[in-house]
Amino acid sequence: MSMNHPLSRLVPRILLASLLYCLPCTLALAESQLEFEEAETEAADDENVEDIESSKPLRKNIDNTRKISHPDQAEASEDPEPSSKTTKIAPHIDLKELAPPPGVQSFSPETGASETTEPEPEPEPKPKPKTTTETTPEAPHDEGTATVSDDQAASAESADEPNIDPTEEVAGAITLLGTEIMPGTSTRLSWSSGMQIAGLSQSTPVLVVNGSKPGPTLCLTGAIHGDELNGIEIVRRTLYDLEPEKLAGQVIGVPIVNLQGFQQGSRYLSDRRDLNRHFPGNPTGNLADRIAYSLFNEIISHCTMLVDIHTGSLKRTNLPQLRADMNIAEVRTFVKGFDRMAVVHSSGTGGMLRTAALDAGIIAVSMESGESLRIQEKQIKAGVNSLNSLMEKQNMISRLFVWGKPEPVYYDSYWIRAEHAGILFSKKKLGDRVIKGQVLGIVTDPITNASHAIHARATGRIIGMAVDQVVMAGFAAYHIGAETEIPDEE
Ligand SMILES: [Zn+2]
Repeated sequence: MSMNHPLSRLVPRILLASLLYCLPCTLALAESQLEFEEAETEAADDENVEDIESSKPLRKNIDNTRKISHPDQAEASEDPEPSSKTTKIAPHIDLKELAPPPGVQSFSPETGASETTEPEPEPEPKPKPKTTTETTPEAPHDEGTATVSDDQAASAESADEPNIDPTEEVAGAITLLGTEIMPGTSTRLSWSSGMQIAGLSQSTPVLVVNGSKPGPTLCLTGAIHGDELNGIEIVRRTLYDLEPEKLAGQVIGVPIVNLQGFQQGSRYLSDRRDLNRHFPGNPTGNLADRIAYSLFNEIISHCTMLVDIHTGSLKRTNLPQLRADMNIAEVRTFVKGFDRMAVVHSSGTGGMLRTAALDAGIIAVSMESGESLRIQEKQIKAGVNSLNSLMEKQNMISRLFVWGKPEPVYYDSYWIRAEHAGILFSKKKLGDRVIKGQVLGIVTDPITNASHAIHARATGRIIGMAVDQVVMAGFAAYHIGAETEIPDEE
């Protein structure tokens, strides 16, 4: 709308008039908006805690009434888009060889070195996926920097003589976000929830690796809470380390789901809502409902397995751990694939991506690692290691993974809240083992100098805790896990 447009002059006048003629209405409106914001923030405040406290108890026997019906692979890779939409072919982007942005030496996660690691010699010639379409002129280029490598071009040229071993299963193309991704290729797409102002909408990257062999579809989501940074890096490192020609199945990664929150360093969406309370979403609901709906239908519905990555909330930190509904047999089997991860039983709460995915027949867990607003190398490495072990366990990759412990440690857990306001100083560290009655920390009132100890209610391990800070009475300070036995499925 140009400044000469009559409406552009009218709108400020209407606003001014409404202010002058109905000041009380405007004030009331502002006040109710403020109350709404506070309520939303408050409701979401203790989500990390609420997840545990509202969980259904862990049963000692399998819940046979709750079965996950795996979506058929063929069905899952069907294009949900209306058929009238033109499907584009994704350009293959070698995620390992992309030119790094200025100042960044490398994408190599472990070394940080800039050299491109030599690919290991192939033990046997792999069938080249059909690549004839990869160089079609109308192939979309969301990524201006994407180039077709020489290798790629060469294989496209020789595609007339397919070198495919008929005994080996070959994967098919998948369609995601209106784009076809050929087997044996990786690419970057972008997802936009469609929430836009005057045609402007922000899109967030989606990394896709479609393996050359058939297999399950693993989805990884990070930063549903925009201030939870470790997950972004866990998704990046995991995806950028995959070689499509050696992968069975697909891995889809959305490193930054809540781009709005990420840009503002905030856990929430711009309307102060917690996105992880609105899945599977609603196309006609509030902003969070609509964003959740779009993500769920455009991307999550394609997954057979989902790991949603989080950190502790609001100045709390977590030992690397999974939150999993251990009352579901398939989930019990699934968590065995995660190396060196504590598994905390939690049936989750309504609106969480994890619970909505389970309801849709997708095996889903949340991964928690570290604290918000920080990038923590140790926690990131733990997450990446564990996802690699999972992919190995699911026969998606074969890297001769060295396992730490054959079985994960399972926990039933409870939170301990501060009973008094003051400054919390912890006596214990994350991961410490504690016995019943032991002092975990002291809360001191800075004005009256009164001190109150917080004690462990039962023996266990500190799997999550508040960092030292000013706390109010009722603040969830320590998350204690008690080891528990999980009976075998058989
Ligand atoms: Zn979170």
